[in-house]
Amino acid sequence: MAPQILSPKEMLEKLVSFDTTSVKTNIPLIEFVEGYLASHGIDSVRVPSGNGIHTSLHAVIGPGDVPGIGLSGHTDVVPVEGQNWSTDPFTLTQKGSRLYGRGSCDMKGFIACILSHAPKFKECDLKTPIHLLLSYDEEVGCTGVRPMIELLGDKLSAPRLVIVGEPTSMKVVDAHKSSRGFVTEVTGLESHSGKPHLGVNSIMAAGELISELTRIDIEMQLRADGPRFDPPYTNVAVALIEGGTARNITPKSCKFSWMFRAVPATGPDEILTRFEKFAKEEVLPAMVKVYPEAAIETVQTTNVPALNAPEGSPAVSLALKLAGQNETFAVSYVTEGSLFEDAGFSSVIIGPGSISQAHAPDEFIEESELEVCSGFLGQIADYAEAN
Ligand SMILES: [Zn+2]
Repeated sequence: MAPQILSPKEMLEKLVSFDTTSVKTNIPLIEFVEGYLASHGIDSVRVPSGNGIHTSLHAVIGPGDVPGIGLSGHTDVVPVEGQNWSTDPFTLTQKGSRLYGRGSCDMKGFIACILSHAPKFKECDLKTPIHLLLSYDEEVGCTGVRPMIELLGDKLSAPRLVIVGEPTSMKVVDAHKSSRGFVTEVTGLESHSGKPHLGVNSIMAAGELISELTRIDIEMQLRADGPRFDPPYTNVAVALIEGGTARNITPKSCKFSWMFRAVPATGPDEILTRFEKFAKEEVLPAMVKVYPEAAIETVQTTNVPALNAPEGSPAVSLALKLAGQNETFAVSYVTEGSLFEDAGFSSVIIGPGSISQAHAPDEFIEESELEVCSGFLGQIADYAEAN
């Protein structure tokens, strides 16, 4: 029996049916992909996570001893909990020209296109190989791709350049902001709320720290020093907070999560350094006067560098040429592209679907975007045969 070839839409239907929310396993999806690739004579290698519930997948189509064109996508999706969906998020549902489903846009649409195209790549007489680089845990700080990147050029064939198919409406993106996330834990001392001078109120201390973050955020907005980005500035945000026991108890502990997305002009440590100085010099002294063990501790939870492709970047030049475009764009979301770039693999972002649909309830992709992406992959195949 001839191996099955799925169209991008059929492939997307299959991929969306796996609930690969980052906290859940992606292994059933990867097993399906391995089986599909194997049925077309394409070998792939897993790079499993330490806890065994996730795995990346690396596949090479074409010669194994030449650096290839990497096509990169993350298999995980953001949660649907708390979102109001009008269709089942894990059943691809067509309404007119739109295909609805979690991940349809971010970014199973791109993965569907490359897998659907894989048998055609395989039939080509490729001079430059095509590498498929599927990861996990992108949505929780781009952590899953890192172990695979470490093996490139060692146990796994290295790409010459990487095309990351995050949704850009098939525009060529050569820059994105950086993003860092932190948890700050404030430890005070409990007391009866009628004896506040015997306690250290952790929530009120956290309030002072958050006010400082608000001041930094406003200053960054005024700088407006990232004209290519929307918004054109670095932003700081507190996104989660917990603390306290009851109204009549001075709260002992308060914890809050905060993050910033920075334009390249912001120094990499500028915000954290300023925040920690404020904590140490302006907030902590009054706390330890009452309770020497009072503390403010900040731990970094995520760190994704900015992508800032250099002038003449091979990945950007190739993407522009094959997509028939002459303009590049900058985006405010992070991608795995900066991690590839920083590891020495020239990277560019271009993929089907609009980022405004990503992460939203009723996420969808226009069917025409899949067609444009498939056309782009055809250009890649032609290029890889000729060069
Ligand atoms: Zn994504």
